[in-house]
This record gives sequence, structure tokens and C-alpha cells, in this order.
Amino acid sequence: MKLIFLGPPGAGKGTQAERIQAAHGLVQLSTGDMLRAAVAAGTEVGKQAEALMARGDLVPDEVVVGIIADRTEQPDCSNGYILDGFPRNVAQAEALDKMLASHGAKLDAVIELGVEDSILLARIEKRAAETNGSARADDNAEALKKRLAVYHEQTAPLIGYYKNVGILTTVDGMKEMDEVTAEIEAALELKEKDNAS
Ligand code: AMP
Repeated sequence: MKLIFLGPPGAGKGTQAERIQAAHGLVQLSTGDMLRAAVAAGTEVGKQAEALMARGDLVPDEVVVGIIADRTEQPDCSNGYILDGFPRNVAQAEALDKMLASHGAKLDAVIELGVEDSILLARIEKRAAETNGSARADDNAEALKKRLAVYHEQTAPLIGYYKNVGILTTVDGMKEMDEVTAEIEAALELKEKDNAS
């Protein structure tokens, strides 16, 4: 299965992707995690990404598309994966479509986690307080506002993009964590039945 988890920063994509990947033998591919690792390792990609990430801007499309193209070719991805934080705009979604088509593959489902902005702000502030601001350079009110604005401007159009293809399922990300997981599982089961029939 090839899945996308779509949603604003702090919606719980990472947490939910971790749960679902374990249950389905998939690999969670978080471009944010990969970029943070590149920054920590001081690679060329990391140097290119560091300042953009700290202020909540997107890293250039060709950088993240290249990362995903390489990563999805690895043997551990052969059973499928969950893209968490990618694509972030329509250009990346189109690049992904091309990449998959060139391998005769396609996406199985896009799960959108819907959460209101006010709740996201509260979640991120809590995360920043818990980690004392040390874990992520972009977990502060200013960068978060930027990340939310970028989400609404550039990433939210993907909801319509995938709705048109007929593979979007929207889940209420404001429910309890376990309930959200159960809703995602139910959506995936439906997709699997659809695919089998
Ligand atoms: P995340 O962990 O998904 O919230 O991503 C953290 C930061 O990494 C984002 O604010 C961007 O600066 C960068 N980033 C992650 N994924 C992408 C992507 N697909 N395209 C561009 N920038 C990205």
C-alpha cells in the first residue's frame, strides 16, 4: 500500500503514521525527519534546508522530490509506505504522480487529518513547552504561524487535488488519538475491499 497522510503541522500525522505503519508492515517516510537528519549531519541538503526550516518555509521542491525518489527505491519500501509531510504542494504531487507512473505504480489512499488552527496552536505550544524549545527549531509561535500559513496557501490545495482523483478520505483529527487511528484503519479497510472487488 502507498499512502499519503495529509494535514496541517501538529495534526498528528507522524503519530498516526507510526501506528499504522507498524500494523501494516509499511515504512513511514517523513520528509521533515529526513531533512532534520540532514541538518544534524551537516550535509549539503542540510545546509540548504536549515534556515528555511527554522523559519517555517518550504525547502525547494527538487530537494524533497529527490529525497523521496531515492528513499522509495530502497528495498524496505517494496511492501509500501506512508508519506508523512510529502507532498506539500501541487508541484510535488505532480512529481510524485510521474514518479509512481514511471514504475507502473499508484497511490492507494490519501488520508487527510482535519484539525482547526486554534487547536493546532495549543498543541504546538504544548510541544514547545514540553521540549523546552530544544527539539525543533521551528516549534515556536512565530514559525508555527508561518507553517500554518504555508499549509493553507500551498498544501491545502492538495485536498481538492486528491478529492478529484477519488482517493481522499478525511478523518477528524480532533478526536481522541485511538479513535483517529480506528477511523484511519476503517478507511483503509474500505479501500482494500474496493481494490479487491
Ligand atoms: P514537518 O516535520 O513535516 O513539519 O516538516 C518540517 C519542515 O521541513 C517544514 O516546515 C519544511 O521547512 C520542511 N519540509 C518537510 N517536508 C517538506 C516538503 N515535502 N517540502 C518542502 N519542505 C518540507
